[in-house]
Amino acid sequence: MRIGTSQSIGLIGLSPFLVTIQTFLSPGLPSISLIGLPDASLAESKERVKSAITALGVRWPQTRIVVNLSPASLPKHGSTHDCAIAISLLGAIGVVDPMKNKDVLVVGELNLDGTLLPISGLLPILLYAKRKGLHTAIVPEANADEARLVDGISVHTARSLAKVVQLLGGTLPRQASSPQSTSAPLPVSFSHSAPSSAPPSSSHPAQSSAAASCAHLAHSSAAASSAHLAQSSAATSCAHLAHSCERAASLDADSLSDSLLGTNADEYVDMADVIGQHSAKRALEICAAGHHHALLYGPPGTGKSMLAHRLTSIMPPLDEREKLEVASIRSVCGTLARYGVTPVPPFEAPHHTVSVAAMAGGGTGIAHPGAVTKAHDGVLFLDEAPEFSARALQVLREPLETSEIILSRSQATAVYPAHFLLLMAANPCPCGKGWGNARDCTCTSQQRKRYFGRLSGPLLDRIDMQIEVPPVHLSMNSREESSASIRARVIQARGAYRELFGTSDTATRPHQRMKWLRARTSRACLALLSSAVDRGTLSLRGADRSLRVAWTIALLDGRMSPNPENVAEAMSLRPRHNVV
Ligand SMILES: [Zn+2]
Repeated sequence: MRIGTSQSIGLIGLSPFLVTIQTFLSPGLPSISLIGLPDASLAESKERVKSAITALGVRWPQTRIVVNLSPASLPKHGSTHDCAIAISLLGAIGVVDPMKNKDVLVVGELNLDGTLLPISGLLPILLYAKRKGLHTAIVPEANADEARLVDGISVHTARSLAKVVQLLGGTLPRQASSPQSTSAPLPVSFSHSAPSSAPPSSSHPAQSSAAASCAHLAHSSAAASSAHLAQSSAATSCAHLAHSCERAASLDADSLSDSLLGTNADEYVDMADVIGQHSAKRALEICAAGHHHALLYGPPGTGKSMLAHRLTSIMPPLDEREKLEVASIRSVCGTLARYGVTPVPPFEAPHHTVSVAAMAGGGTGIAHPGAVTKAHDGVLFLDEAPEFSARALQVLREPLETSEIILSRSQATAVYPAHFLLLMAANPCPCGKGWGNARDCTCTSQQRKRYFGRLSGPLLDRIDMQIEVPPVHLSMNSREESSASIRARVIQARGAYRELFGTSDTATRPHQRMKWLRARTSRACLALLSSAVDRGTLSLRGADRSLRVAWTIALLDGRMSPNPENVAEAMSLRPRHNVV
């Protein structure tokens, strides 16, 4: 009797956990059972593993096989564990030494001919493996570039199960060479060096620089993870993603690699592209500096979407922790190859027909991330916001309050981060002509009321600013400020925030701090707000939000507390009653 063992890592949401896979062969009728809470796709791995092992030329054991995935209490899903199950089984039948390789992480999906296919979520898996002290990992070659993002763990890549067996020091029958395993064998023992110093697989071209690595990442994305991209595309019902994809496709691999690294991302969108609309630009600058949620309001064709798409270009770049968080989310969504690791904050713009599941995250078994998570540390833009379903808008309330979203499904509860800046855009009425004297508007008051009805209530309560985007007369002589120069002021204001509140984490969260702010606001400013409340033009909650905006304006202007002009500007940016 022999038990084969291998190590894999599972994911519930973004939370990884170690999975130990043991295979036991016992006398009995030939059969294979998989236990330890596998989902449907993982249960199918029995067939993939059987076919892949047979393709190696190894005789499938004609006995009873039990494969256990522990811990048994946690659900396992997807095809991530295919390769580890195969290695565990090969350990049980003596092809590889189970004791020698019990601390080696093996992940990857198997095809029927033994080819190793890429998986989604490799980045959080490897980061966790590093934290848990696993020194060596074997991953699909198609995931090589993603694997190189993690240092401190020796990562080897393989194209096929045969290569994995070879890397683990196993011996295969002579006829076992699969079509993929034509490369020269690698040393059996692993080095414990960082992967960047030595390309892991001889069959993979050596690409040491980050740019080159990302070029390959982008270049190989179509072939490498097409299955995963296709799988995620259903949930990614997002106009911006499609737009970016088209844009990316039109670029050559070299320029795309730079874009993925964020070195020249700003070349493609810049506030200077928008002619005029200076007050709207100023308002967006305030948004970015104070992390204020906002509504862009104006007739069609005035540049609301254009302005919104440029908001991330004036936001401070992501720091290392944020970059890794965003990359991990993209890895789980299977979109890391498309977007890469970049300091530019993410921008998510779901179409107004988006379902609740695509907005918040969903799916059976274990929920997948939705638009609110994909927009984490960036911008969630809802164009034509009144056209969204009431339920799709309602699910935004929880993440706006807590900066995360909890999705409970039959198998597990997944918690995803969802700290985003909410930017909405709305026309003045359903026909879009209800601006100014609204002579051509054909909407009835009932239609207008219904149009804005979905936005009312708790969601608009969380909006700090209403930014008017009126029609503009083009002036070709006007000089437009670049995103870089606006961003410099925003970064300076965020720095001042940090000085005030200690950590950037709390400074940009849209809650509390009101007591602290009120205590440090001048009497003249407070009097302005109180008189607006007395007149009924501002609610108490509105006064608090205006005060927060006024502080942001003051910090942007280089002042350490607001003056009455700042408060007046903040009050002029409050959502109006004609929308609410
Ligand atoms: Zn109208």
